Amino acid sequence: MSLFGAHVSIAGGIYKAPIRGEELECDAIQVFTKNQMQWSAKPLKQEDTDKFKMNMEKYRPNSVMTHDSYLINLGSPEDKKLEKSRNAFLDEIQRCDQLGIDLLVFHPGSHLEAGERRALDTIADSLNWAHEQTPDASVISLLEIAAGQGTNVGYTFEQLMDMIENVKDKSRVGVCMDTCHMFAAGYDIRTKDTYEATWKEFENVIGLDWLKAFHINDSKKPFKSNLDRHENLGKGYIGLEAFRLLLYDERFTGIPMVLETPGGDEWFTKNLKAMRGLVGKTKEVEGPALEEDGG
Ligand SMILES: [Zn+2]
Ligand SMILES: [Zn+2]
Repeated sequence: MSLFGAHVSIAGGIYKAPIRGEELECDAIQVFTKNQMQWSAKPLKQEDTDKFKMNMEKYRPNSVMTHDSYLINLGSPEDKKLEKSRNAFLDEIQRCDQLGIDLLVFHPGSHLEAGERRALDTIADSLNWAHEQTPDASVISLLEIAAGQGTNVGYTFEQLMDMIENVKDKSRVGVCMDTCHMFAAGYDIRTKDTYEATWKEFENVIGLDWLKAFHINDSKKPFKSNLDRHENLGKGYIGLEAFRLLLYDERFTGIPMVLETPGGDEWFTKNLKAMRGLVGKTKEVEGPALEEDGG
């Protein structure tokens, strides 16, 4: 089975994240390595990185990925913004390297009306630049599929592969599939047939070897809406059957899957429970499997 878990908070110190992961019974966690709404942060203290690594050994999560700051746009057509983004991304890689984290998920970027072609090339160039600055790091930058909102790029398998093809060091790049984003972008996974067709297309266009992580979210908005609004599992337009199919898909064994659903830890627990409730279910399921809270 896959490594399943959630995005956990780093409040009070990043070394606390694996402990929170254990409390939530996560086999995989995702963290920010700094405040995701700010450009810069204080350097990590050796003491904290040591404690983080120790806690990853000691507590339940086997896998940890990070997500970069929401401010970064590696495809920006504006020189100053691009430089700022590249430097911030370099810092993300260095922080991962210090923490011993191999997977760095990032939103590819936005073209801001300068055209998709230019953004796709700029993003690949940005990755090449960042990789050149960090030749000894083993951090893999994961292009997260976009929902297609605004001027974001990376919302088709073809665009993701286009960027991968232009990255020189292929050992440093991969993709993260967010179930909400892919659904909003027009990749259906709601039934056995659509699920299989979508993954066949993924294999044909990208290839499963590039798939290194999943974000597991239902969608508040309908199919092909191009809107990025996460929902708790079984409560959105995707529905539980898609998550059951994912859970049993042997192609994804060992690939970390983390929740980014709304409502904080309380709802992570409910979603994790819902996912575990699907274990052993060999037939099609219909939602809702989540407990309602209060009223
Ligand atoms: Zn995501
Ligand atoms: Zn999202």
